[in-house]
Amino acid sequence: MTDPLEEWIATRGEAAIWADFPREALEAGERLIHDQAVLDCSPGGQGFFARVQADRRHVHPVDIRIHPLPSPKPVTTFCSCDAGGGCEHAVAALLHYLGRKAPAGMARANPAICQWLGEAKRSRGVPATAIPPAGMTRSWSTCLTPMPRVS
Ligand SMILES: [Zn+2]
Repeated sequence: MTDPLEEWIATRGEAAIWADFPREALEAGERLIHDQAVLDCSPGGQGFFARVQADRRHVHPVDIRIHPLPSPKPVTTFCSCDAGGGCEHAVAALLHYLGRKAPAGMARANPAICQWLGEAKRSRGVPATAIPPAGMTRSWSTCLTPMPRVS
């Protein structure tokens, strides 16, 4: 099964995912990822759920709904912070989901797949050598291994 978010990126380019977020949210989201603020991330609902550590005292549950194409927008985000969504926590959750800058606690399941995805992204014309062997899934989510549950 193809990840609907991967489908979006393949069809419209990754910018489509970020188009609706304010620049400040994108920058702050990058910082949150850098600070390993995404505590966990699990598929559920119409997309996935994540918990993002906003500061020492606040953890925000984030609910990301992914709308499959041909929806006019890729995602709707809900967050428990004052913004209610479309915020840096949602950006961090999405970045985490897409496997960028994986937090230290999250092992990369298969570096070859991640590398292949990176190469495929860089060059639209995928060289023959970069085509994965049959049976290897192309989903972005294969770059992620489940985080240990924080209880
Ligand atoms: Zn938020």
